[in-house]
Amino acid sequence: MPHFSGESEGEALDDMLEQGDCPELDRLEQQARIIAKQQMLKLYETAKAARTGTQCICPSCAKPFTKKSYQQAFCSNKGRNNCKDSYWNRANDDRSMRAQFFASRR
Ligand SMILES: [Zn+2]
Repeated sequence: MPHFSGESEGEALDDMLEQGDCPELDRLEQQARIIAKQQMLKLYETAKAARTGTQCICPSCAKPFTKKSYQQAFCSNKGRNNCKDSYWNRANDDRSMRAQFFASRR
């Protein structure tokens, strides 16, 4: 039984990416995206359900923030590239994420 104590999961994934056309890669990428999405959604629901004045984790950038109004769920919702917009862009824009992923592999 070989042991991989020196190798992190991240490094293992890097190795896989370097190998190129791995049939597992598509599945793994999809799975990772689903998990990330579920975590984002969970953080969003937690932030939404939290009371005003409580510290929450921003579902978009993962920074802690204090909730200032009952409907707030992100650390920022104004201006360009604010967390609210980027969260919903990411949540809704699966197809463009996939396109970016494959573009970066070429
Ligand atoms: Zn944020």
